[in-house]
Amino acid sequence: MSIHQPCVFCAIIQGHLPATIIHQTDEIIIIQDRAPKAPIHWLVLPKRHIENISALAPDDLHIIGQLMWESKQAAQAYGHTNEFRLLTNNGASVGQSVFHLHFHLLAGTRLNDF
Ligand SMILES: [Zn+2]
Repeated sequence: MSIHQPCVFCAIIQGHLPATIIHQTDEIIIIQDRAPKAPIHWLVLPKRHIENISALAPDDLHIIGQLMWESKQAAQAYGHTNEFRLLTNNGASVGQSVFHLHFHLLAGTRLNDF
């Protein structure tokens, strides 16, 4: 597993920082966002350090499929919904603050259009 320091998500994955874990597999972890913007606000991320979408390599593509799959599974199993928003910020100018690929999964209320 590729670990980058200092990366807050790698530290969480290694158990060096606390987080509320919703669900995890060998390759994916879903955690509670610390500043939730909806009743359900989780972060879905690969355990392997990938900076963002722009840093994806062809060998990483199966990770994206797993991210989508585990998002769907967790929304159904733990959020009890099939309706959610899944988004990622790719780059600092559009709001990426932690440079370890992660998708925000938002649900549980009517979300604003944007
Ligand atoms: Zn990382």
